[in-house]
Amino acid sequence: MIRRLLGRVFSTTLFRPAKPGVIPRSEHGVSRERISRCAFHVTDTLQRHGHAAFVVGGAVRDLLLGRDPKDFDVATDARPEQVRHLFRRSRIIGRRFRLVHVMCGRETVEVSTFRGGQDFGASDERVTDEHGRIVRDNVFGTQEQDARRRDFSINALFYDPASEQIWDYHHGVADLRKRRLRMIGDPESRYREDPIRMLRAVRLAASLGVEIEPDTRKPIRLLAPLLHLVPAARLFDEMLKLLLSGHAREGVLQLRREGLHHGLLPMLDVILEQPLGERFVMLALEDTDGRIRADKPVSPGFLFATLLWHEVLAAWRAGEARGIASIPALHAAMDQVLQVQAEQLAITRRFGADMKEIWALQPRLVQRSGRRPYRLLDHPRFRAGYDFLRLRCASGEVDPEVGEWWRRFQHAAEPERQAMLVKGEGPRKRRRRRRRRRRDEGEETSAEG
Ligand code: ATP
Ligand code: MG
Repeated sequence: MIRRLLGRVFSTTLFRPAKPGVIPRSEHGVSRERISRCAFHVTDTLQRHGHAAFVVGGAVRDLLLGRDPKDFDVATDARPEQVRHLFRRSRIIGRRFRLVHVMCGRETVEVSTFRGGQDFGASDERVTDEHGRIVRDNVFGTQEQDARRRDFSINALFYDPASEQIWDYHHGVADLRKRRLRMIGDPESRYREDPIRMLRAVRLAASLGVEIEPDTRKPIRLLAPLLHLVPAARLFDEMLKLLLSGHAREGVLQLRREGLHHGLLPMLDVILEQPLGERFVMLALEDTDGRIRADKPVSPGFLFATLLWHEVLAAWRAGEARGIASIPALHAAMDQVLQVQAEQLAITRRFGADMKEIWALQPRLVQRSGRRPYRLLDHPRFRAGYDFLRLRCASGEVDPEVGEWWRRFQHAAEPERQAMLVKGEGPRKRRRRRRRRRRDEGEETSAEG
């Protein structure tokens, strides 16, 4: 239906350069009822006070695709202070870009003032670094300039809830219809200005099911190293969006195809080249995608724990090979892997503790004797640890029998549990065995000496 409507739009000649194509509802089909109450309240209030105000960006794109937008952004010619004064529950945020958050009930709408684009040189309000990367940008501009400074044509659409018209400066509706992601302006310089756009291209292509148009795609491989210049926190947020998009598997595969995975999760490239590691990561991503699409909660800590598991595993084995006892070797491996990641992505601060807990449970899940399994069942992170173990089983790293044992043990009645415990591994026997081993080793040493 939408396609047919869009088809009609493009049989007409609505577009002229620099002037927007103004597309009426009869042609695009998006009714104002699809806009959230809060977003409508915001545009309506601004317009009543004589300002221009539109719903912009991802929300318009998603509505045209027939999807429910996650959130609504509004663009206006009112300055942040003016917006702030019109809404009681609002505040100004951001430094790089100053924005206003307007709250209604539990919803927040982000309101940005039209901003100027490329034709502005550096000034106090717009600061670039030696690589051409924008580090501060508060140059206000016209609506047309605001459209031009946006990343992709399909993200530069303005919807006016009052008239139900879409203002389209860059043939975004046509691109959407052709399922094409196209950078506005010269792709290479736009990536240089803000390298995160490379990651956004891949994320949007994977999650919207669109193709990155050849000219937009071409510079990515060459410019990929510029991602190192992006502050870790921004990189992390964008990566998290990709991983939680419901299309993480496709997203990660595409990152690899574009040569963007280096340094994002250091050595994700190496992991993906090992059959076991790749299988494990892909299973974990499929699992996450399935949960997101079924509207079930997912834990980023769990997800990152899976992405880095094979690195931990390699470092753990290396530690053991150097003669470090198993558990201390695991802990050293976890710290080492998180340390490397912390420099690239701000993982440790937010999710490091979760990840460590899940990893630390893994050797404990293999021991199935005495009181240990009971203690583990009471562990607050048991469920996550067990889900993680199942992925390890499914990927062929751990004997599937172990996962199956835990599945049964959780649901079994007490007598059955007793019967399931692995015999001959009680604490007494273990102590005796350890003593014997120490004695044997002592004898060997003295024999050598
Ligand atoms: P999502 O649905 O994942 O939120 P989105 O396109 O809405 O996708 P946001 O990060 O919410 O992404 O950004 C809102 C809008 O701001 C985008 O649609 C785009 O117009 C613009 N934008 C965001 N990031 C950039 C960027 N790095 N460069 C240029 N424009 C950007
Ligand atoms: Mg958005």
